[in-house]
Amino acid sequence: MAIATVNPYTGRIEQEFAPHDDAEIERRIAAAQTAFETLRDTTFTQRSEWMRAAAHLLEEDQEQLARIITIEMGRPITGARAEVLKCAKGLRFYAEHAEEFLAPEQLADPAVVGASRAGTVYAPIGVVLAVMPWNYPLWQVLRFAGPALMAGNTGLLKHASNVPQAALYLDTLFERAGFPAGAFAALLIPASRVEPVLRDRRVKAATLTGSEPAGRSFAAVAGSEVKHVVLELGGSDPFIVMPSADIARAAATAVIARNQNNGQSCIAAKRFIVHSDVHDEFVRLFAEGVSGLTVGDPLDESTDIGPIATESGRDELASQVADAVANGATVLAGGTAPDRPGWFFEPTVLAGVTSEMRLHLEEAFGPVATVYRVDSREEAARIANGTTFGLSSAVWTSDPEEEDWFVRHLDAGAVFVNGMTASYPELPFGGVKDSGVGRELAAAGIREFCNLKTVWRA
Ligand code: NAP
Repeated sequence: MAIATVNPYTGRIEQEFAPHDDAEIERRIAAAQTAFETLRDTTFTQRSEWMRAAAHLLEEDQEQLARIITIEMGRPITGARAEVLKCAKGLRFYAEHAEEFLAPEQLADPAVVGASRAGTVYAPIGVVLAVMPWNYPLWQVLRFAGPALMAGNTGLLKHASNVPQAALYLDTLFERAGFPAGAFAALLIPASRVEPVLRDRRVKAATLTGSEPAGRSFAAVAGSEVKHVVLELGGSDPFIVMPSADIARAAATAVIARNQNNGQSCIAAKRFIVHSDVHDEFVRLFAEGVSGLTVGDPLDESTDIGPIATESGRDELASQVADAVANGATVLAGGTAPDRPGWFFEPTVLAGVTSEMRLHLEEAFGPVATVYRVDSREEAARIANGTTFGLSSAVWTSDPEEEDWFVRHLDAGAVFVNGMTASYPELPFGGVKDSGVGRELAAAGIREFCNLKTVWRA
């Protein structure tokens, strides 16, 4: 894929970028290794100061950055601005908490292991490669970079080929904030040139956020090199509505949960599993809400839904919906790609989805919701768990016993009760099954790329 900004609202190429050649890649890996030798000997206090400076730069550059996001991947400008501020908050969170998350631990009774003192420290591991997607072009990267740099690691970013301007902004952010040169750098390369970087002996570990096939092939290479990986892959999150739920609130939240970021969020609710007692009321309110969304120019302040980020993504969505309709699904809202420039797809609600349809098992990466009618919590959990994914989930109920039952029975990295899934710096984030391995964010996220070193003293 060419490395280029292609505006999804117009379909026009705005700017193309030459990929880095092998010599430039070598220079950047070497600089990341050299920066690591410096960074590992800095204090948390020093790194926190630089990290806060990076957060401040993001805030100063908010408008410029929001426009880059919108023009490169079509996120409505209001959401793009919010993404920039969320990143600043995430960096400050790690500036404040990294030291506490990585505090050494001592055995209370070291004599049992024959020591005067014994315990563990979290040591940085070195250069970490991060392969990232376009859908939250700042947040996905910075939720890796913040903890990695605070731990004393350095980072190399291979960003998605359609968000090069975001990548180039991030390439200089941390050096501008005071971190050693090379501590965080972007590699402008296509996916086909990732493997030698991942195999490089100086690259100690890696993370990939993206699709399941990309994750599988990346992890296979990392596995052959015995390198630790974190994978944040696809999702097809269930949103379960039980009879005791506040149906109006559930339906209003469902509209946002499915359509945030033009429906292109790994943790968007994608499958709506509704008890038959409240099915018709929920579906009516949900379809009404979805039909009321404003589709249009993502730079327009009043737009709710912009275009799909890529033409192939829009075509894939259209083919999934066509397949469902051909196999008997009912269209309650939207359903087509409008005849206009740009890669738009109407916000869509489909009912009567069955296991013969592709949308039953595949992730829909755009504003397409599927609705299922169920008669019991057991049936709801069976459908919810009936895909290969297990990223997050949501359940709406006011029955505490039922709430606990779902928390126990949903096979997902998170359960949100009477709310929609979101990522917070304070809470771990990650999936089970084919949605990934490892965790980002909170204490778990920063510890992923540390050497938990045992220290024993006679
Ligand atoms: P993608 O095609 O897998 O691309 C993601 C990144 O991986 C890009 O930088 C891509 O580079 C690179 N890549 C692709 N194949 C690769 C390979 N074989 N080896 C190494 N790198 C490779 O995914 P996408 O379409 O951009 O993003 C959408 C997917 O990401 C969805 O499935 C979504 O659910 C998932 N996602 C998951 C999370 C999470 O936290 N779980 C968050 C956001 C998105 P090129 O751009 O150069 O191809």
